[in-house]
Amino acid sequence: MAPLRMVILGRQGSGKGTQSERLVQTFGCVHLSTGDVLRAAVAAGTELGRQAKAVMDSGGLVGDDIMNGIVRDRLAGADIAAGGVLLDGFPRTSDQADALEAILDGLGHRLDVAVNIDVPIEVVTARMLDRGRSDDTLEAIQRRLELYEEQTAPLLDWFDARGLLATIDGVGTPDEVFDRVVAAVERHRS
Ligand code: AMP
Repeated sequence: MAPLRMVILGRQGSGKGTQSERLVQTFGCVHLSTGDVLRAAVAAGTELGRQAKAVMDSGGLVGDDIMNGIVRDRLAGADIAAGGVLLDGFPRTSDQADALEAILDGLGHRLDVAVNIDVPIEVVTARMLDRGRSDDTLEAIQRRLELYEEQTAPLLDWFDARGLLATIDGVGTPDEVFDRVVAAVERHRS
């Protein structure tokens, strides 16, 4: 079967990280998390890291030119060409989605599916408060969730308009949710 090329979406606390790990194991694709790429650049003290750090600290979005460049480079890599990709954290806006479509098109590829792991706001809020991390005050959690909503709603429409969106119920055990995610992926690939 052709390598899988998919996007994963979900609120903070939706279990997206756990599901991503399982997906890359099952489908053998490369996990491309743009947040991880930026955090690694910050840790390594590169020029990209320097530029990204202030924006990330403020909770804003790094510019599209930088982000599209990172994704363009990685998607052209031999590992992703052979194994496929799970995009996590990109695209964040419909402009980035347009860019992704163009990048894939240039490589002769297309996206299979965007899986949205849907967990209600009350449930993710309770999960994050349970974790008890110091940056997880109720106010900070609510601010991040609001921002996510604002950014992501147009993106869901973008995928939906192209028949690429699969919203799955993210409430359940990790195994239950994973079965739903895999079923959605298989449906869109065939
Ligand atoms: P994440 O781990 O996906 O939450 O990303 C952490 C931070 O990196 C975000 O708050 C943004 O500042 C930045 N970032 C990650 N991905 C993107 C993206 N696709 N576009 C713009 N900024 C991004």
